[in-house]
Amino acid sequence: MICLGIESTAHTFGIGIMDDKGNVFANVKDSYTTKKGGIIPSKAADHHAKLCGDVIKEALDKAELSMKDIGIISYSMSPGIGHTLRIGAFAARSLALKYNKPLIGINHCIAHLTIGEALTGAKDPVLLYASGANTQIIAYEGGKYRIFGETLDIGVGNFLDSVAREMGLGFPGGPKLYELSLKGKKFIELPYSVKGMDVSFGGLLTNLKQKINSGKYINEDLAYSTQETVFAMLLEVSERAMAHCGKKELLLGGGVACNLRLQEMAKRMCRDRKAKCFILENQFNVDNGAMIAWQGILQFNSGERTEIKDAVIDPYQRTDEVEVNWK
Ligand code: AMP
Ligand code: MG
Repeated sequence: MICLGIESTAHTFGIGIMDDKGNVFANVKDSYTTKKGGIIPSKAADHHAKLCGDVIKEALDKAELSMKDIGIISYSMSPGIGHTLRIGAFAARSLALKYNKPLIGINHCIAHLTIGEALTGAKDPVLLYASGANTQIIAYEGGKYRIFGETLDIGVGNFLDSVAREMGLGFPGGPKLYELSLKGKKFIELPYSVKGMDVSFGGLLTNLKQKINSGKYINEDLAYSTQETVFAMLLEVSERAMAHCGKKELLLGGGVACNLRLQEMAKRMCRDRKAKCFILENQFNVDNGAMIAWQGILQFNSGERTEIKDAVIDPYQRTDEVEVNWK
């Protein structure tokens, strides 16, 4: 069974093609970017609408398949930016109707976890999902995918991008800040904001903006200290979730999971508590169609179908609202 998965929750329009054995035949994407500022929802949607046909064609070409080889269509139904989700849902309905294929709408956050299980061999991990807009600690517990901790304000990726922008580094800032951090030598104490199982970045961002503009510090040291501080915050709550759930596996997901320093710190924490740390290839950390395809296969095999009339979007769905029939 082969599934074509459509991702469009935010700036990325992605198409992944996978089979039920976990083989990835194609994982193609095109992302909307800006020179200044963040995502403008309507512009990102225009980007997806303009490029979706090309990306679908490129994925099929790469997989050396045609639509008649595709068994199922899946798409990100939730959560995300309404404008961009709608383009993916529209593409999914169009393909399903035109080629008479079954359709599955899925939850994007859960797909970040299940693609990790499919490709790394993790069996029941705690997911540290660190992306642009999202920062959540998710694990399967009591029949649902539950959020054990999350950001109270902005996502860690957006936070890193904002710090980088303040330093004049451009977008996406996360990788640029990482490069700069390698030259940092001095650790500068910054606000450490863990509240129970949640984290917050707003106050830290204000504090950093003042420090960047004060002329008293060099950006290399601030970049280094920023990463050390926020990654320690993320791993503190991840570790506490692992202890609480009695789980022995940590999986990293989301664009920020591409960061080598975060990976190093996560491996270290796991080693200290005799747990396993699973890290995906970057193409499966960032938003991608393959994870949507894989989650589509899981739900299809459990007997789920999304009727065309129900193939809408749900921008605010939480992971624990999803009925789990595939485990
Ligand atoms: P996503 O929303 O999952 O597509 O991830 C996008 C976010 O990941 C952006 O905020 C990027 O700055 C961030 N990002 C990508 N690569 C890295 C990296 N190497 N280090 C830190 N952040 C990164
Ligand atoms: Mg994501």
